[in-house]
Amino acid sequence: MELEKIYIFDTTLRDGAQTQGVNFTLDEKIRIAESLNKLGVDYIEGGWPGANPTDTNFFNRKNNFLNSNLVAFGMTKRTGRSADNDPGLSSILNSNTKSVCIVGKTWDFHVDIALGISKEENLENISETTKHFIKNKREFMFDAEHFFDGYKNNKEYALQCIKTAYDEGANWIVLCDTNGGTLPFEVEKIVSDVTKIIPGNKIGIHTHNDTENAVANTLSAINAGARQIQGTLNGLGERCGNANLVSIIPTLLLKDFFKKKYKLNMNEKNLNYLTECSRLLDEILNRKPNNHAAYVGSSAFSHKGGLHVSAVEKNPKTYEHIDPKLVGNRRNIVVSDQSGKSNILSRLESLKIKIDKNDPRVSKLLDQVKDREFIGYSYDGADASFELLTRRLLNQVPDYLKIQKYEVRVHKNVNDTDINSEAKVHLNIDGKDIICEGTGNGPVHAIDSAIRKNISKIGKYGDYLKDLKLLDYKVRILNTGTNATTRVLIESSDSSGEIWYTIGVSPNIIEASFRALLDSIDYKLFKEKAPANA
Ligand SMILES: [Zn+2]
Repeated sequence: MELEKIYIFDTTLRDGAQTQGVNFTLDEKIRIAESLNKLGVDYIEGGWPGANPTDTNFFNRKNNFLNSNLVAFGMTKRTGRSADNDPGLSSILNSNTKSVCIVGKTWDFHVDIALGISKEENLENISETTKHFIKNKREFMFDAEHFFDGYKNNKEYALQCIKTAYDEGANWIVLCDTNGGTLPFEVEKIVSDVTKIIPGNKIGIHTHNDTENAVANTLSAINAGARQIQGTLNGLGERCGNANLVSIIPTLLLKDFFKKKYKLNMNEKNLNYLTECSRLLDEILNRKPNNHAAYVGSSAFSHKGGLHVSAVEKNPKTYEHIDPKLVGNRRNIVVSDQSGKSNILSRLESLKIKIDKNDPRVSKLLDQVKDREFIGYSYDGADASFELLTRRLLNQVPDYLKIQKYEVRVHKNVNDTDINSEAKVHLNIDGKDIICEGTGNGPVHAIDSAIRKNISKIGKYGDYLKDLKLLDYKVRILNTGTNATTRVLIESSDSSGEIWYTIGVSPNIIEASFRALLDSIDYKLFKEKAPANA
């Protein structure tokens, strides 16, 4: 039997970005998009070109994603203007994406109250907008806002709206449960009703999680015929979130019910990247990953208690619904290191570090990573620190700055508004003691400037560090054990454009920052092949 194709549409950068407290920078948007491309989703909705400088710049850059199509988002043309003269539609066309997703009203209540126009005017906006993009050769998706509520309130009109877009050539009609209150059996019934006038392979589904049913609603819609799935990484989204692609994707690829009927562009190899992709988003959002997240949570395959563990030891199927390796996760028991080891090996492979899988140093590295993760390190978002840890173990990283000690002083006069920080760093380079001093608006800034504002003093390393830039600095307080621990993540770059991430953990925020900073400097010196400290 020929398998039917299901398309995955990610809206983390548009709908996910609507979340309270979420404000992606351009760099963060690029990182997320690259990660989605690596995961292999079919569509990445990049945002709303023309709406704000970040989104506009995101679309202006050269985006070459091998696996994914970038989609620009916008809304149907304004009433009383032609599509050709609508500035919103022009920004979307000018963004030059192959695909566009345009939201329009399908609930008569919203047409009356929110837009204050007649039902006929709304239909005309839909048909003119559709024609406009089809004429300009875009893959056109009509995002039918509030479709399910509209259908319940005025079925005839809701269907008329989407039929209008479809008749004018829309490639996809995306049915949205914008308020998130629809239940799975209602979704199944309504979507199958829609398939009577629009074929299922032209129907998309976009659900929200207000009744904790966004994933279930998506699966029900597929069952009823929908073939495009919209959602976000980790279910990020306003209120209670969107449908969580991180749960939906493995369900479609691994569960027999779906696996036997449908195929995705992604394969099992892409799926191995799922856990890393999910954690990367948390790292960018500076959020603690949800340990109990389906498939990718660190507890999703944890086994505690004698009976479970011994059964899992005999056969993991006794307490696991899938093999955790398939989604890049690992079993969390002391019984076997195999899954952890294979994760380490695949990371070494991606760093192009050649090592025999039975080399005892692989187990030693795994132990070090585990020990460090236990005290709060997380290498998922800190590749450069992971590479340094590995290469140090393999004796490939020489000593560079040999920092002997550092001192930091923070002072403020009660009547002043400014707080001043001063740092003194004692280094030893080629046998010579060097003291570097710096000031800054905070202790970390002061240590950083003590080292980097004195590059003439630090002799042979100065030249290598001239173009080092710190782009971002994130602090998270972890409450893992009885004591609070601080984790600092630093994002650095240089004139080559490479971006790298380093991490430091300590009960003391200054020490955590110092370690992350030193790793960033060491990584830069290592990649520049700087000579060892004699
Ligand atoms: Zn939405």
